[in-house]
Amino acid sequence: MIQLVGPGGAGKTTIGAALAERLGVRFVDLDAEFAARYGNISAYLDAHGYAAYAEQNVGVYLDLVGGHVRVDIVALSSGFMTYRASIHPYYLALRQRVALSPSTFVLLPSTDLETCVNEILRRQLQRAFARSAAREEEVIRERFSTYFGLPARKVETMQPIEAVVAELVMALAAQQAAAPDGTGPARARPSRSVYRESRVPQVSGRRQAADQASNMATYYCGPCRLALGYAPSLSSGPLLQTGAQQAKHVKHTLVDPSERLQSVFSDPSTATIRVEVENALGSGAMEVDDRGRINFLTWSGEGVGYRYESGTQIEEQDLTKVVLSSNAGQRHQFTEATARLGSQRCQRCGGELFQPST
Ligand SMILES: [Zn+2]
Repeated sequence: MIQLVGPGGAGKTTIGAALAERLGVRFVDLDAEFAARYGNISAYLDAHGYAAYAEQNVGVYLDLVGGHVRVDIVALSSGFMTYRASIHPYYLALRQRVALSPSTFVLLPSTDLETCVNEILRRQLQRAFARSAAREEEVIRERFSTYFGLPARKVETMQPIEAVVAELVMALAAQQAAAPDGTGPARARPSRSVYRESRVPQVSGRRQAADQASNMATYYCGPCRLALGYAPSLSSGPLLQTGAQQAKHVKHTLVDPSERLQSVFSDPSTATIRVEVENALGSGAMEVDDRGRINFLTWSGEGVGYRYESGTQIEEQDLTKVVLSSNAGQRHQFTEATARLGSQRCQRCGGELFQPST
């Protein structure tokens, strides 16, 4: 999916529609999609405020990209890359994926700040519901560096539409040439960095307090993440279906003194671990770490294993953590301790993350 991002007045909708026509594919404008569902955006903002709008808008985006109708090109809202991280549980992961995708293009009138500001002001003030010139200038100055700083390719739109479209078509063709199997260009694929296995922080008694203080993850209790619609889209599947998963299984079921830190299930049987995995995915709490990666946690209420430091048992574990890969067929699970999460509560309801199962 081709994603066009950039500040208001950059030309996302115009260029997106023209590119779709040129390629004969389907184009969707996220603002139009929002308006179709929830009515006029200005009215929505007046009634509900920006945070509610942004959360809802991320939801519209998720529905679009996960919907039944294939979307080929999407123009994202002008503020989409600038929301607060906590606006939506999936937002950071999405933003990272958009930012790193080789088929994301940043549209800016010019990559020169002052030229860009002047052109955006000129364009925006012609619009029916323009903000004041001063506010408009403030917004574009604020957002320019965010958009300019994205790793995605920048395309200047102060040139005829056909020229911009031609530039995009050439960039896309070059990418396909570099990856004839359709997997994208040779650079790192975005999905890998979005859902990379969570880093296991160092921990031993004296380090634990520091680790908890540096745990910047956000948590949602099971009922809240389900109420918000965050159910992982993959079935739990065979536990050992790939070599990678078999290797992970061995790593988390056999104590290996050569591993500096290792979390190990007491019961290595896949039947037992499967129950934990299914509980985590089905009803467990959700963790969105500071880099937007999403993991699911289930609490057993008793020990599920131990953490070892160079083969020496150091800490009892009472959680099973399931880490999802962007590859729907892959999943990785290991033990974790509630003590290591720090005093976290659900971001939505403020309640305890783990409740005894009834
Ligand atoms: Zn909650």
